[in-house]
Amino acid sequence: MRKKITALKELTRNLWWSWDTEAKQIFEELSPLLWQRNNHNPVQLLEHISDDELISRCRCEYGDKIDRVYKRFTAYLNNKDTWAAQHAPELVKNTIAYFSAEFGIHESVRIYSGGLGVLAGDHLKSASDLGLNFTGITLFYKEGYFRQYLNHDGWQMEEYPLQNPQSLPIEKVTDAEGKDIIVTVNIAQSEVYAQAWLLKVGRAKLYLLDTNIAANEPHYRDICCRVYGGDQNMRINQEILLGIGGTKLLDQLGIQPAVYHMNEGHSAFLTLELLSMELAKGLSQKEAMENVRDRCVFTTHTPVPAGHDRFSREMMHYTFDKYLSTIGMGFDELMLLGSEDRNNVYGLFTMTVLALNLSRSANGVSKLHGEVSRTMWQHLYPEKKLSEVPIGHITNGVHASSWTCGYTGRFWQRQGITVDDLCFSREAAEAVLARITDHDLWSLRYSLKRRLIDYIDRYLGNQLFHQHINSYYSDYNTLVAAKNTFSPDVLTIGFARRFATYKRAPLIFKDLGRLDRIINNPVMPMQIVFAGKAHPHDDAGKDYIRQIVHHSRRPEFSGKIIFLENYNLGVAKRMVSGVDVWLNTPVRPMEASGTSGEKTVLHGGLNFSVLDGWWPEAYNGDNGFSISNGEAFENHEEQDSFDAEQMYTTLETQLIPAYYERNELNIPVRWINKIRNAITTIAPEYNTHRMVKEYTTKYYLKH
Ligand SMILES: *Cc1c(COP(=O)(O)O)cnc(C)c1O
Repeated sequence: MRKKITALKELTRNLWWSWDTEAKQIFEELSPLLWQRNNHNPVQLLEHISDDELISRCRCEYGDKIDRVYKRFTAYLNNKDTWAAQHAPELVKNTIAYFSAEFGIHESVRIYSGGLGVLAGDHLKSASDLGLNFTGITLFYKEGYFRQYLNHDGWQMEEYPLQNPQSLPIEKVTDAEGKDIIVTVNIAQSEVYAQAWLLKVGRAKLYLLDTNIAANEPHYRDICCRVYGGDQNMRINQEILLGIGGTKLLDQLGIQPAVYHMNEGHSAFLTLELLSMELAKGLSQKEAMENVRDRCVFTTHTPVPAGHDRFSREMMHYTFDKYLSTIGMGFDELMLLGSEDRNNVYGLFTMTVLALNLSRSANGVSKLHGEVSRTMWQHLYPEKKLSEVPIGHITNGVHASSWTCGYTGRFWQRQGITVDDLCFSREAAEAVLARITDHDLWSLRYSLKRRLIDYIDRYLGNQLFHQHINSYYSDYNTLVAAKNTFSPDVLTIGFARRFATYKRAPLIFKDLGRLDRIINNPVMPMQIVFAGKAHPHDDAGKDYIRQIVHHSRRPEFSGKIIFLENYNLGVAKRMVSGVDVWLNTPVRPMEASGTSGEKTVLHGGLNFSVLDGWWPEAYNGDNGFSISNGEAFENHEEQDSFDAEQMYTTLETQLIPAYYERNELNIPVRWINKIRNAITTIAPEYNTHRMVKEYTTKYYLKH
């Protein structure tokens, strides 16, 4: 019995469980209520359950389940017959160090803000599944990203609940004698100390640096307080810790990565630490730079110039003065590495430029974004033609088994295929879909939508219970009016993501009369669920949320359009699985890739999106819907009007009629054919197994 309990506890300490349907189930089954209340955190869940209770539970069938899951877990960890063993054996021996300011792995570990983090988490999981030796580096943010709630006016409010390391599946990193490993970095004239935590994600390791220790001056203890928190000064401090501190940590642990992968420019200071290590060996600056470049790869994610991290010369000087004196590098030499103009060291220091200068490869995250990036950075390569600018692309994907873990995972299992196999090739997907009847697919859609609606009802109930009059539902009657009004018979649209303004969340409200006629069509109605956080400093984004909340309270939309608070990985899982259609309305080409629509497809959802990011690559005319053909206008207002008009017309003339066109068994055959087409054409391409394989063969392996 003790052995089973030890096994159960060990399972809580590796996030592998978060993409294994049965493993997740053994936690949920212990107490569905506590599971929910503890934000699906099994470490915290077990704090509430006594060993006596566990022992008695383990005497029944439950104990066998633990054995079964634990056996699969150890087999997973010890599997030597992996993709990497066959295709990249040197990357089984040597690690890839992947640096990212955020990792979205599971909702219970709040060290992410949005898409960039979720991508990093999914990348880490696929690297583990494929058998690569993979080490992630990030920061431990004690307050994480904020918890969102809305006040009575629909204005976003932010709360920062503390994360207790004791209740997370992380452990302190110590040396052979059990002493804490401490990393020291120079910031301005000070030395700043960080301890390290380790989070296990399957076979992959994720190290988290944490400055919240007594050795630090108070203002440096807070560097790791919040994801993307604070001002420019906080930002540069976080980035020094991530890049320089992370590189030093690996060195102290005796880890010599074969590749340093910078996921976005935030971590680009790592190249300076690598340079300093090379210079310390007595190499010339030129040789040192060659050696650094030889080990670094860089992925850029930002299609607009203003989105890239830049620091003033003064701030760079103040922050790096002492550091430079210890490594023997001149300040202007440093500025040149991050300058957009080779002849000017007096301008801004751009992290992306540093990363481009000191990487052996660089890439954008979709085909379109690759093109946009080459145009945006061409001036750094004046001797090159546009097509020769050395920035390629690898289109983002999603970790299929994480996003289907649970109900949909079991559905595919019943069809005799794992989700990974479904995503392995188009042939595999076609073969299994040929066996599935329209009725089975339609019944999956119904079940998933029913589950989402039940979830929404519970969620709105909690929203009121916890926030009383602070909630956007300011009294019980309005809450009841909004509850239990969603129907699984009604076409359901989902929109959820960060509320960056370029994503234009309120676009569908452009013409309220027309939207009213669509939503309240007596034979072909529609309902919409929204969610998303605006960055705490982004008042324009917060105003978008407020607008949507106000619209949703209009009598004609009440109970048919809702906004769920506190979008996170858990809410995302419910939404992408339950809705019929996933809507995306970015201003082209500002969505570098986007991934949330890729999650929907695995559940039989369809995309309805502007042809931006990954969608122009995937859309074939019959596996979803597009908003316009990419017509571009100089004027924002004109662009919005045009895109909104196109959206309404496509809804009215194509999307809604296809959904409500039924055969004699009330099955929408044409719609289901689109679902089949979407699964077979999209699932095998837009997943992180394909993506990580591509990174490996194109960039990680030496050519
Ligand atoms: C997938 C995901 C994102 C990314 O969404 P996009 O539509 O690609 O911007 C952001 N936040 C969460 C919680 C996600 O799960």
